[in-house]
Amino acid sequence: MSGPDPYTVAGISAGLARSEFSAEEIARHFLARIEALDATINAYVTVTAELAIAQARRADDARRRGEAGPLTGVPVAHKDIFSTSGVRTTCGSRMLADHVAAYDATAVERLRESGMVTLGKTNLDEFAMGSSTESSHFGPTHNPWDLERVAGGSSGGSAAAVAAGLAPVATATDTGGSIRQPAALTGLTGLKPTYGRVSRHGLVAFASSFDQGGLLARTAEDIALVFGAMAGFDERDSTSLDAPVDDYPAALEAPIAGLRIGVQEDQLAHGVDPGVADATAAAIRELEGLGARVRPIRLEHADVGIPTYYMLAPAECSSNLSRFDGVRYGHRAQGAASIEELYVQSRTEGFGLEVKRRILAGTYALSKGYYDAYYGKAQRLRRLIADDYRRAFEEVDVIAGPTTPAPAFRLGDRLDDPIAMYLADVFTVGVNLAGLCAVSVPSGFSDGLPVGLHLTGNHLDEARLLNVAHRFQQATEWHLARPPVEHGRAPESPE
Ligand code: GLN
Repeated sequence: MSGPDPYTVAGISAGLARSEFSAEEIARHFLARIEALDATINAYVTVTAELAIAQARRADDARRRGEAGPLTGVPVAHKDIFSTSGVRTTCGSRMLADHVAAYDATAVERLRESGMVTLGKTNLDEFAMGSSTESSHFGPTHNPWDLERVAGGSSGGSAAAVAAGLAPVATATDTGGSIRQPAALTGLTGLKPTYGRVSRHGLVAFASSFDQGGLLARTAEDIALVFGAMAGFDERDSTSLDAPVDDYPAALEAPIAGLRIGVQEDQLAHGVDPGVADATAAAIRELEGLGARVRPIRLEHADVGIPTYYMLAPAECSSNLSRFDGVRYGHRAQGAASIEELYVQSRTEGFGLEVKRRILAGTYALSKGYYDAYYGKAQRLRRLIADDYRRAFEEVDVIAGPTTPAPAFRLGDRLDDPIAMYLADVFTVGVNLAGLCAVSVPSGFSDGLPVGLHLTGNHLDEARLLNVAHRFQQATEWHLARPPVEHGRAPESPE
């Protein structure tokens, strides 16, 4: 392909700046690909074609007036859990199938104000609960690398959209792994920022002490270009961190010689797919070749990450989802004889199986008599897990390992086995329990399916993670691989 790469933010931004194409042409290019390919992939719940063209024209006008920034006219897709004014926000649920928010989430608002063009809203597990995007009311998303397999979850729609070239970048959220796990399974780069780095205002809540917005893109460079516009303090989110936003693009090129990388030696020992283990070991050697120094670390309570997370996250969800009662928001059952029946019927009809399972488990864990044994104990474990990371970061700068134990599994394979589904997050949940940041970077293939390297950083160390990921991507070509979907043609340059 000649000219700027129309599938990266960097390529589109450069092409727009040189007037090689207009924002409207780029928007139409992606809308045409969505039209042609999304019936098989199901990455989008809603495509906002008219909005995209209108925003793109405004971006072109701004450029003519000399008012364009680096993101003006660059398209983006939003996970359908970020509220969007005038465009429905479904959370992948029947409960909110017709819900139109009255305002934009702060993350959406900031990207819109930076000139980005909204292509649509992407599919997800219902209320972001899941690891495969199979619990969506709108049907599963298919992995562009193998349509019979999952794209990961819960941000499977955002991941599949970017992997298939149906968007250059997409917002996503990560409560226990939902940005990094789909990134690994679709060959993308995914950043889960430090808790509080990206405003949760307008992000429909799943587990409020874990939820964090971030990005999925092809490269660390693309994430660096967009992330600064999305991150930063927001007075409308009481857990938002009041810390300066770094210049992420400026941090990309720094050499990583002397970087101290911690590796949990026991992590690759049991239960990890051999292809994943080999790719992870090779990626760590690659980083050593760039001057990093590897040392073993031990995160003593890593093995209780999954039970701790799956106690606390459902507890928070049971409380957050009580607002969907058929009265204030969402689906309302017809013909109820009493207010009690209205609540029960609306929730019975509006929520799917996994959401109900979590509300029940969470309510149980919080109930009188069980609170200390379950919720209280999990809170204490959460503290121990965070302490393990705090000690590790006294000795190392980043922690490296595999993002997932295995590459993408087959659609349907884990639907009857919630525990098997939950174990997809075994390497990612610790980061959310401790509120840290992490990135997944394409690191190779196992049986033709992409796998990811997981890099964990200390609080607010996103710039360093993007730096390490970028240096890795300059030395490797895994992020350049494209799935076997038809890539369409780049928009013609006017010459
Ligand atoms: N898979 C995890 C869960 O089901 C994480 C989901 C997420 O990060 N939103 O809870």
